Amino acid sequence: NFKNLGEILSFNAKIRPNKTYIYYEKKKFTYREIDELSNKVAKVFLKFGVTKGDRVCILLENSPEFIITYFGIAKAGGVAVPLNTYLKEEEIQYIIDNAESKVLVTSSKFEDVVKNQKKLCPTLKHIFTYDHSNFESLNMLHLAKAETDSHPNVKITPEDLAVFIYTSGTTGHPKGAMLTHKNLLSNVSACLQVFHIDHTYKVLLALPMFHSYTFTASVLLPTYAGCGIIVLASIMELKKKSFKKILLFQRPNFFLGVPQIYTALARANIPNWFAKFLYPIKIHISGGAPLPEDIINEFYKKYRKPIIEGYGLSEASPVVAVNPLNKQKPYSVGPALPGIEVKIVNDDEEELPIGEVGELIIRGPNVMKGYWKMEDATALTIRNGWLFTGDLAKLDKDGYIYIVDRKKDLIIVKGINVYPREIEEYLYLYEGIDAAAVIGIPDKQSGEVPVAFIKVKEGSRVDLNDLKDYLKKHLANFKIPKHIYIKDDIPMTATGKVLKRKLKEMVLAEMK
Ligand code: ATP
Repeated sequence: NFKNLGEILSFNAKIRPNKTYIYYEKKKFTYREIDELSNKVAKVFLKFGVTKGDRVCILLENSPEFIITYFGIAKAGGVAVPLNTYLKEEEIQYIIDNAESKVLVTSSKFEDVVKNQKKLCPTLKHIFTYDHSNFESLNMLHLAKAETDSHPNVKITPEDLAVFIYTSGTTGHPKGAMLTHKNLLSNVSACLQVFHIDHTYKVLLALPMFHSYTFTASVLLPTYAGCGIIVLASIMELKKKSFKKILLFQRPNFFLGVPQIYTALARANIPNWFAKFLYPIKIHISGGAPLPEDIINEFYKKYRKPIIEGYGLSEASPVVAVNPLNKQKPYSVGPALPGIEVKIVNDDEEELPIGEVGELIIRGPNVMKGYWKMEDATALTIRNGWLFTGDLAKLDKDGYIYIVDRKKDLIIVKGINVYPREIEEYLYLYEGIDAAAVIGIPDKQSGEVPVAFIKVKEGSRVDLNDLKDYLKKHLANFKIPKHIYIKDDIPMTATGKVLKRKLKEMVLAEMK
């Protein structure tokens, strides 16, 4: 019965103080060390004027410092605002300004995008770094050293705000989803009811920590259960020789990824004999974006392990559904987590019968309070206590959810619904295609038509006429992309979601 996020760390520091909590490069940190460091950091925040509900931005790469800062903010009663490390100066300015953040915690690596932020953002009072920087900042390590390591004892209730997640913006201006301590804790405990993970597990973390999925599922969940976490700086580590050593000597057994990362793992520098006999990870979960069948197959070929699919969104803390370990259904993201209700509705908000496609709406203790200072957007997204996910889905008789596509990505050709994902799945299965994306563009005759973008695998060739013939064998004519563009790269978010808005802008600019 934890009341706030700080308690999950402090509890484990009490019952297993000397257990290794974080493995990072060649360093190891125990539960007690991280708990004490985050107490000190909380006291620094309090000293520099962070009061209950104040927003503190974090712009850091994956590191123990990120985790220490996050818990430090939580213990001081502040609200952590993790920033996407790929953002440019103006995008960061937008979020600091919008969140009216007083404090930014960052590192010298981000000099270019943070050095002017104090001038640009009137609310921003202090910038902290853990290393030496050339811009005006306070040294957190130095300041924390001067503090005692006892708990700061700020009273924090489950309903207090803990985090703002700015949605990654695949659909426009980022909005701050406000999550409370209870939202996040309920989500973690519901996940643990499905996966009986205990302190004997070791989680491998490779996705960016600023993403809600990573932080909830790969940091809060293992912390709650008292596990060890192997922190990789980035997905690039999977390509290095040292990755094999991590697998061999640190032996992670639980991994949460996105589809893109499973492609990277399937192509990692791991010999087949190693994958067969020495590969230690037992449970692989995927979420965050549709998992193409092709990736499941490529991964299975190498590791002989299934990928278990789940589904969520930042506004839901983020996990909504996941397949139970021994009760998976192919193509499904599983049933809703315990405590979460789901319904499929039509545009009039009427519930649809089993098997019919409509918008997925959800209700439960994990649903955000709303978007920060965006009452209109909040009212559109949360109606009568239900979160409208914007995703099209269907349910089966056992309550398993099948995500069909995003509502806003739906293409309407001569009045008929075309789901880009259906076309994308066929493209992925075609020999030589590495990545694919389908969008709808305006068309005089049909209203809208699909167009496709493909990235060709290194060393392969794709003949567009052959590809079209193949698609015609599997899909009705109105679903065949009017154009297929071959691209060196398909623009994606840091968590592997295709930036369809960018693709659309590109095509529309070309059409003018
Ligand atoms: P924005 O809302 O600004 O576009 P975003 O969509 O990237 O940002 P996230 O919360 O990161 O925000 O992503 C949630 C979305 O990811 C879901 O609404 C859904 O469309 C998609 N998604 C997540 N898991 C899956 C899955 N297993 N299959 C298909 N889509 C998924």
